[in-house]
Amino acid sequence: MFFKYCGECGHKLDDIKCGDDNCRICPSCKKIYGNNPLPVVEALVVNEYNEILLLKQNYISNTKWTVVTGYMQDGETIEEAVAREVKEETGQIVTNCKYISSYYFAPKHLIMIGFIAYVKKEQFADSAEVDDLKWYKIEEIDNVIARENNCSGMHFDMCKKYLC
Ligand SMILES: [Zn+2]
Repeated sequence: MFFKYCGECGHKLDDIKCGDDNCRICPSCKKIYGNNPLPVVEALVVNEYNEILLLKQNYISNTKWTVVTGYMQDGETIEEAVAREVKEETGQIVTNCKYISSYYFAPKHLIMIGFIAYVKKEQFADSAEVDDLKWYKIEEIDNVIARENNCSGMHFDMCKKYLC
């Protein structure tokens, strides 16, 4: 996604070449902008009993359940973003995470970075970000996971072969 204006000073950006890549530069403050997607982490949370934690977020669906997702923040690694989002949305502490795959979500210019996040089963946090949380067995997921207008089902499919 190319910005038209500088995020620092608001000046209109000019096109430049950065090596082989097309970039833009602010003629005023010289800040350089790439043609980058926004990175979003996506995590299937699994505990030591092979249960999978799904979230209910009523603004997405009243009936279907989703995986943890969230925008990366400046200054953190991808693994730190996974751990932070899982903690914020569910209260669970990530002990280890495994990269699964990524894909580009064109309508919103997002690069979705998919993980399995391993946790030890903990009490749920009082999270203002989700409406409900529930542990599911692997064989129950297909009936409850969101697939329409949501990438949770696709992420689960990609994780399946790594689950016991
Ligand atoms: Zn500028």
